[in-house]
Amino acid sequence: MRSFRIGSLFGIPIKLDLTFLLVLPLFAYLIGSQIEEVAGLLNDGLTAGIDIGAISGGLMPWILGLTAAVGLFIGVILHELGHSLTAQRFGFPIDSITLWLFGGIAAFSEMPENWRQELTIAVAGPIVSVLLGVGSYALFSVIPASLSGARFVFGYLAILNVALAIFNMLPAFPMDGGRVLRALLARNQPYARATQQAASIGKLFAIVMGLFGLFSLNIILIGVAFFVFIAASSEAQQVTMKAAFQDITVSDIMTPVSELHTVDPKATIAELIQRMFTERHTGYPVVENEAVEGERLVGLVTLSDAREVAPVEREAYTVEDVMTTELETITPKSDAMTAIERMQKNDIGRLLVVEDGDLVGLISRTDVMTALDIVQQSGAVAFSGRPRTAD
Ligand SMILES: [Zn+2]
Repeated sequence: MRSFRIGSLFGIPIKLDLTFLLVLPLFAYLIGSQIEEVAGLLNDGLTAGIDIGAISGGLMPWILGLTAAVGLFIGVILHELGHSLTAQRFGFPIDSITLWLFGGIAAFSEMPENWRQELTIAVAGPIVSVLLGVGSYALFSVIPASLSGARFVFGYLAILNVALAIFNMLPAFPMDGGRVLRALLARNQPYARATQQAASIGKLFAIVMGLFGLFSLNIILIGVAFFVFIAASSEAQQVTMKAAFQDITVSDIMTPVSELHTVDPKATIAELIQRMFTERHTGYPVVENEAVEGERLVGLVTLSDAREVAPVEREAYTVEDVMTTELETITPKSDAMTAIERMQKNDIGRLLVVEDGDLVGLISRTDVMTALDIVQQSGAVAFSGRPRTAD
């Protein structure tokens, strides 16, 4: 997409997102432009003994700014590697580690629902950051006072890595601290409910962070707040759906073929639009009726296909001219969650349910949302006679 691979560590691809290329020079600039203040703080706080005159002349602030920024992002990669290697040890594969606008992301193909595993994976990153802070401090203390630049970089990295650990441990789900919170909440209640609670707290934190960013005119903090809010909402929704649809298959919630309105490929677009209007459906499977073979599925036609034909030509064109013939299908035995993910991934509103080449039903986003409403309002539901416990 917008990212490219720069290498790999322990078999995990490391990628840079294009937005990261904006952040690196920005950080280098920010560190470089505040070098005298920061060095002063290091001298006061860590008795660094940095010769400020030696590092604030010429290109020195920018060179040190860039070095510290690169060092910080190496720290971010190692932080993500801490999460990733711990997850791998529990058997969860990691697709990649990406550096982007707001730091690092380790992309999991699957999340652990076991609270102990999640807790361990979540704290592994901040632990790495603290260790990097301690390591930077150790290097800082052994570097001779004559090397003011190196003392500046390692002193600064010691503080930045510890700050990174503390910031990530804020209980703002889906940040690390929020994941720790969810793990602790999931000890004695269902995973989905724990996620809902952690996400609500995460969103609250995001709002506070956003307001704080707004008042202090800190664009990065506003961005992080926005990101946390969106990510908390979408992860909570995904987890809720997954929990609600556990044990529910496509055939449980699809519209079966007997109740399905179909359209003939020879019908005109005018007729199709009239039917959409009266039946209030926006998509129809196109089925051909043959005397010998019976019904045969040939395509799918939607309102947007029909709209492509200008009103004056709607008597002249037929369904066959505008329908989609490359059909996204799913089997009735698939999990309902698989159907949802397939619709989201392909950005389509409905899937045809096909078994052994025969159309057996249609599943639409509306079907999914209706089923979700029913499941959520009634608690545990026994679709197709399978009783569920409230886990
Ligand atoms: Zn982390």
